[in-house]
Amino acid sequence: MGNSNKNTIINKIKQVIPKKIIASVPFELEEQFDQVQLKNTIYRLKILTIAMFAFKLISLLIYIVTNGHIIQSGRLAQLLFFEQRIFNIANSYNFTIIIMFYILISIFSKKNNTLFLWMLCYIFIILNFISINIAMLFTDSDIQILYLFSTTLFLNIFIPNFKPKIFLWTSVLFYLATMGILANHFPFYYSGGIQFFILNTFIAILVIKIIQYNNNVKVFVNMARINALNEKLSELSITDELTKLNNRRAFMDYMDIVWKQSHRLKLPLSVLMLDVDFFKKYNDSKGHLEGDNVLIAIAQCLKSKLKRDTDFIARFGGEEFVCLLPYIEKEKAVNFAQDLVKSIENLNIHHPMNENSEYVTISAGMAIIIPDENYSQKQLLDEADKALYIAKQSGRNRVIIK
Ligand code: GH3
Ligand code: MG
Ligand code: MG
Repeated sequence: MGNSNKNTIINKIKQVIPKKIIASVPFELEEQFDQVQLKNTIYRLKILTIAMFAFKLISLLIYIVTNGHIIQSGRLAQLLFFEQRIFNIANSYNFTIIIMFYILISIFSKKNNTLFLWMLCYIFIILNFISINIAMLFTDSDIQILYLFSTTLFLNIFIPNFKPKIFLWTSVLFYLATMGILANHFPFYYSGGIQFFILNTFIAILVIKIIQYNNNVKVFVNMARINALNEKLSELSITDELTKLNNRRAFMDYMDIVWKQSHRLKLPLSVLMLDVDFFKKYNDSKGHLEGDNVLIAIAQCLKSKLKRDTDFIARFGGEEFVCLLPYIEKEKAVNFAQDLVKSIENLNIHHPMNENSEYVTISAGMAIIIPDENYSQKQLLDEADKALYIAKQSGRNRVIIK
């Protein structure tokens, strides 16, 4: 009893603790995720550049106002990009580095070379670390060290979406370098509390980085799943399961588009209603499953006959198919319809109870118009349906044009 209680408590604790400290991306999504991370990194870099530029300009304004004298243009450039005073050295060089990378990345992102762009980002972070360490070499007060240190670290939290492992190793190197410099130049700090502050900051930033990264992975993987599901759903909702042709809904959507276009361009639009002859009798004599196979064969044959990208075929329901032929003159449409009807009989699918042929045949009703305000889509479909009815009445296996 006591033992199992203990087990459930342990299990509960296990559930709370994440299994992996750093989330992993499913293999098939890795490349895509990498692209998103890179895009995000570049986006942040751009935002940061703008923010830094604004910050610099404001600092300059304050400088001018408080100093009250006119600044020569050379001094202006120096203040913006190459600050000489030790205190601002890292700040200025970081700014220069950011601008440089902004330009480089802008140029190379057009070439879409992922590996190279990532390399630029890595070089960027390493240069940052180096610049801060150099700046520290010339500094002689705690406040300045803290200032330099925190600016660069926060800069680096904000910018790159690197893999946390890489960030971890660069951070460790940076940490060791910083500590080395401090120990070398300021033995006092080495034994003082400042290294605890620096260590704390490192750990905090690393944790933030990992949380950020894990969150990115989670959001990305969820989105990818939702997208895949949506794609599948929308595909399912427009295809007919048996014949894999477009279904009636897809047909209506397509009809809507070509209707408007034909109206605008004043071009003819033909619709063909196709219906299998004596199909009930076929089912009765050969069975429903065999009937299904015939529908599949007919669908494939009809589809293979379409010539232009704009031609469209769908299963309208049951053993009826519908075909849209936009932007084509009447004569060609009629020829096409006759060809369709002939090609089904030429499939030579034996039909013992077809009164007009040995084989499975279809009948077609065709209607053609140039759409205008006085005419509706439904009217066009009705016309084709009436033509089909006449085709059935007058002996089947033929095309009737309304
Ligand atoms: P008509 O020449 O006048 O068109 O005669 P018909 O028998 O083809 O027409 P009817 O409308 O009387 O019958 C249509 C038949 O099509 C009835 C139904 O069993 C069959 N059918 C409809 N959908 C399917 C299907 O998905 N699979 C199969 N095997 N048969 C189907
Ligand atoms: Mg029918
Ligand atoms: Mg029929």
